[in-house]
Amino acid sequence: MATQNKAVLGYIQCADCGERGSVHAAAGRRNQLYKRCGCGCDQRNGAVVQSRLWYETEWLDGMKPEKAPAQVQAPEDYSGQVDRIDQQPRGVAADDETGQQTEIRPESKPENEPDQPDKTGLWWLAGGVAALAVLVGRA
Ligand SMILES: [Zn+2]
Repeated sequence: MATQNKAVLGYIQCADCGERGSVHAAAGRRNQLYKRCGCGCDQRNGAVVQSRLWYETEWLDGMKPEKAPAQVQAPEDYSGQVDRIDQQPRGVAADDETGQQTEIRPESKPENEPDQPDKTGLWWLAGGVAALAVLVGRA
């Protein structure tokens, strides 16, 4: 009795090699699935991998196991993964906001008023006129 080739339960498109992989039930008591494709034998048993096999396999007639692998996520969880990813950064962003709220304000240098040189110029002029007057008066 050949134990190597398990019965094909269905087929699933492999995102890695682009092949149509065959889906099999893993040996042993654990209720798990694995696929064979151009990548080789993919026996990863993580929740996402098992969920993908469970939900995306095109099962052959009557070959779908009665029970899903234990790791398989609820349908709403599996299809809702995008939403969950969206929610995560929102929480992180909130933490960041409270953690490092530093305002970077470029210091604007007050511009020198152009009136001052003119005023001193006037004072110089006035002083010069006064001095000239004194000189003229003395002469
Ligand atoms: Zn593959």
